[in-house]
Amino acid sequence: MTIRSESEFAVVGGGVVGLSIAYGLLNKNKNVTLFDEGDLALRASRGNFGLVWVQGKGAGMPTYAKWTRASASRWQSLARQLSNDTGWDLALQQRGGYSIYLDEKSLEKKVATLTELKKQLGGDYPFEVLGHNAIKKEEPHIGKDVVGAVLHHEDGHLNPLVFLRSLVKATQLRGLKVVQKKVTLITPSGNGFTVQTTDQQQHLTEKVVLASGLGTKALGETLGFKVPIRPQRGQVLITEKMPPVINRPSDEIRQVNEGGIQIGASAEECGFDDKETIKTTAELASNAIKQYPILAKAQLVRSWGALRIMSPDGFPIYQQSTTCPGAYFATCHSGITLAAAHAQLLPQWLCGDGAAITDLGIPFHDFSENRFDV
Ligand SMILES: Cc1cc2nc3c(=O)[nH]c(=O)nc-3n(C[C@H](O)[C@H](O)[C@H](O)COP(=O)(O)OP(=O)(O)OC[C@H]3O[C@@H](n4cnc5c(N)ncnc54)[C@H](O)[C@@H]3O)c2cc1C
Repeated sequence: MTIRSESEFAVVGGGVVGLSIAYGLLNKNKNVTLFDEGDLALRASRGNFGLVWVQGKGAGMPTYAKWTRASASRWQSLARQLSNDTGWDLALQQRGGYSIYLDEKSLEKKVATLTELKKQLGGDYPFEVLGHNAIKKEEPHIGKDVVGAVLHHEDGHLNPLVFLRSLVKATQLRGLKVVQKKVTLITPSGNGFTVQTTDQQQHLTEKVVLASGLGTKALGETLGFKVPIRPQRGQVLITEKMPPVINRPSDEIRQVNEGGIQIGASAEECGFDDKETIKTTAELASNAIKQYPILAKAQLVRSWGALRIMSPDGFPIYQQSTTCPGAYFATCHSGITLAAAHAQLLPQWLCGDGAAITDLGIPFHDFSENRFDV
């Protein structure tokens, strides 16, 4: 066994969470090594819906609503910085987004949830309720069965694959060392940790950040984390390219920058099975046609399933190990939305200044996994 590298931070996981954190740490001039298992791993970052989404996030935990909004409001600056680094356009648009409803009861329920959240946030939560005629004005192709929609002005979307590619390129330009191997074990040693990979190499690091999605459980438990996460499948469809037919995205349908209509996403509890099914594809397509009847003419060109990384309450977990200080664990089910917070705020906590986040009015300790202790 040989010792290969030494770094201030080892980030385990090369999805959007690990890469956003690595990018933020590199911007703080930290020496970072990133480990990623590669193509055999389950990777939510390659299968998602591309929303930067605020509405509804944090119902039941206002701290999460604040964290989400802190990220959404930093997204333009992250996109600009990545574009400056790479020359690529992330196609980020934050002109608002909808939740669209086919029945009054569901719309009323959503409005009640958002009204309560708005109250908890001191009234600062910019959403409006559109009836059928109002949404028709904004979206001329909306179907007659749509009873209304909630428009939240902070919602948006982007091209998630260009984003992922941009993170890879930008981190490499900033000196990220990448080890394309699965991490098998992390052990405390000296003033830091030894990270062991499948090729029997050892890497020394002062601090380690587990951002390895569904792979975190196996690594985290030996460092004293509980890692209460589970997979949840989402299925997504995409049509052929179409002329512009949808103005703003919704949490179920959006027109991507290349023209295809992306339709999603289901939420299914089926363990680690990430395959798409005919039944869910048909349900998603039928719902989309009710919302936008013009889609009945569109050719479906691709469908896929991918696994979300879910905590028991659906909110993120950020935890430093109590038994192995210097080891951190970060997970969430909205890694696109939270990427700007992960790149611009989370590194402060990893560098020992979690108070800087709390000073923004976001009580960061609320995200500890200790909240699941009974
Ligand atoms: C269908 C669907 C739609 C979604 N839509 C949205 C959306 O619209 N907006 C939004 O904000 N979020 C969305 N998400 C969620 C978002 O995709 C995830 O939050 C995000 O991708 C999680 O990123 P991650 O880096 O934590 O995990 P992953 O992308 O799963 O990456 C984990 C990485 O860790 C690596 N790894 C695992 N174990 C090891 C190991 N032992 N050693 C080395 N490397 C390891 C893997 O190789 C992998 O690359 C969606 C998710 C799904 C499934």
